[in-house]
Amino acid sequence: MRYIKPDYYDKFQCTADKCPDTCCAGWQIVIDEASLEKYDEMTGSFGNRVHNSIDWEEGCFFQYEGRCAFLNEQNLCDLQKQMGEESLCDTCRNYPRHTEEYEGLRELSLSLSCPAAAEMILSQQGMPRFVITEDDRGDELEDEFEDFDLLLFTQLEDARKAVFDSLKSEKAPKIESGSHKENGFYQGLDRAQITLQDKMQKCMEMAEKMQKCVEEGRYFEIEECVRQFCDKQSSTAIEAAPNAADAKAYKTEGVGNDGAGTDPYEQKISLYRTMKQLERLREEWTDLLSEMERILYDGGRENYLRIQKDFHAWLEHVPERKACWENVGLQLFVFFVYTYFCGAVYDDWIYSKMALAVSSVEFIRELLMARWKKNGEICFADYAELSYRYAREIEHSDLNLNTLEETFMEHCCLPGIPPHI
Ligand code: SF4
Repeated sequence: MRYIKPDYYDKFQCTADKCPDTCCAGWQIVIDEASLEKYDEMTGSFGNRVHNSIDWEEGCFFQYEGRCAFLNEQNLCDLQKQMGEESLCDTCRNYPRHTEEYEGLRELSLSLSCPAAAEMILSQQGMPRFVITEDDRGDELEDEFEDFDLLLFTQLEDARKAVFDSLKSEKAPKIESGSHKENGFYQGLDRAQITLQDKMQKCMEMAEKMQKCVEEGRYFEIEECVRQFCDKQSSTAIEAAPNAADAKAYKTEGVGNDGAGTDPYEQKISLYRTMKQLERLREEWTDLLSEMERILYDGGRENYLRIQKDFHAWLEHVPERKACWENVGLQLFVFFVYTYFCGAVYDDWIYSKMALAVSSVEFIRELLMARWKKNGEICFADYAELSYRYAREIEHSDLNLNTLEETFMEHCCLPGIPPHI
């Protein structure tokens, strides 16, 4: 069996009662079969509490005012306190550790929805390292992979590797004390920004071509799409837009984009509308969305463009700010591509997986810009907070993930793809 994980994976530690949030509220905690049996056999007064705290029909813990029945006032788990770590169900024991299962391969990641994990993910500098290990254990799920499309999976893995290789030059710009515009530092930052945005656009183009190959049954040509992507990266290094303003006109056709063309305001409103129609898991998310709409979009196009311009001027005023912004964009993009892209082996939706990654970066950046406008500044804590709040709503709702992917597929500008697949 092969295993892949980011190199920071094993360093994760839950911050428990120091956590600014909790993973035991706001969503349904599904209990695995073995744990349900264990809970069923518990006796005594605590056993009674356990029996009464479980919705046996749904196989999950009851919630009171959105909080798990075992979550106490100190935001600690009474079940763990009373019965120890072993008493936890798989969901609680593993979170925020997440495993994607492929034939002969397990891909491990930390969920961005946990504040402590979000901090770890976003504080990586430059392209994160992934550790690959192998042991001689067989795949216990072998029978479930009878129809696994190994050829497509290999092509997806190759495409993802090509994307990551293209991002390797996206080092967080080196920050030297006394750096200023005249010594070329800003020039480097602008270029780094263009590079990430330009590369996300190139990734979208590659994904679109791959999707077309799948739709038309030209599976062997997928390799050619990846090769062309690699060639473009090495030959142009970057087809740099001449200045940062051009970079902001980055095209996101097809990314939740209701025919909005390349107008940045229309694009962002379109993405916002897509996000707004999704299922809500937490009240705070509704508040954040309303605030974002009021601050960024209600004032119209000119107002939005002015905020965007002022925001970028604020970022560029201090090199460290800009560097942090760029690096967080990179970490988010890598996170979403790593976690979701190869899952296309199960549904053939390659384009929508890449669109999910790009639009997640874009949307979290919009949330951050609204936070900046409201507070006059943003810091790393804002990056982590808004990222984990976004992930809580999107990553932990299959309904939301599916709706987003369906929307992206509708806008995949490919002939022959019906609006709803
Ligand atoms: S959200 Fe993360 S840090 Fe917070 S309690 Fe859960 S696992 Fe711990």
